[in-house]
Amino acid sequence: MSDDETVEEYLFKIVIIGDSAVGKSNLLSRFARNEFNAHSKATIGVEFQTQSVEIDGKEVKAQIWDTAGQERFRAVTSAYYRGAFGALLVYDISRRATFDNVARWLDELNLSDFHLFAFLLKYNQKTKAHSDTTVARMLVGNKCDLENTREVSLDEGKSLAESEGLFFIETSALDSTNVWTAFEIVIREIYNNVS
Ligand code: GDP
Ligand code: MG
Repeated sequence: MSDDETVEEYLFKIVIIGDSAVGKSNLLSRFARNEFNAHSKATIGVEFQTQSVEIDGKEVKAQIWDTAGQERFRAVTSAYYRGAFGALLVYDISRRATFDNVARWLDELNLSDFHLFAFLLKYNQKTKAHSDTTVARMLVGNKCDLENTREVSLDEGKSLAESEGLFFIETSALDSTNVWTAFEIVIREIYNNVS
């Protein structure tokens, strides 16, 4: 490597929130390891996994945090949100109650340290620059494979996302539909915000 070249490393923390059993842990395991677990137990302890995505020829690492079975409101600690650049807010399209709770999760996100701590640590050999940035939030309607027992329409998801200024996508951790795309959109948005 010549002296002129700089090493730029991007590491973005992203959190996944939403009601219990909407598929948060399986979305993460599908994205990070291409695994699905039909009998997944509630996550114990704080857990994150990393996955790299190539954006504009650069390797971007996403460190994705999964709630530690703390899916009750106010139970997710500020440490969970601290330093996050993005959030996936997940509901289950086959359980309306999980969609109705999206507003509460948004409140929690807005009240958290999320925005305060959304800063970038962009490592550059020459500049070692820090800069402020905004956060990327995506509403995710998971379990779209369960079309027969759907309780929340695609349009309802879309319009909620639109009114709250969120990205929106429907996914299936079971059959992999849109899982990679969901994470990639959030990661790309963060990347665009900071670069
Ligand atoms: P979490 O509590 O939000 O982390 O949810 P989990 O990932 O543990 O998933 C809860 C349950 O839903 C498990 O039985 C999963 O197998 C199931 N599940 C997760 N994602 C999907 C999906 O996309 N489709 C279907 N049909 N089931 C899913
Ligand atoms: Mg879980």
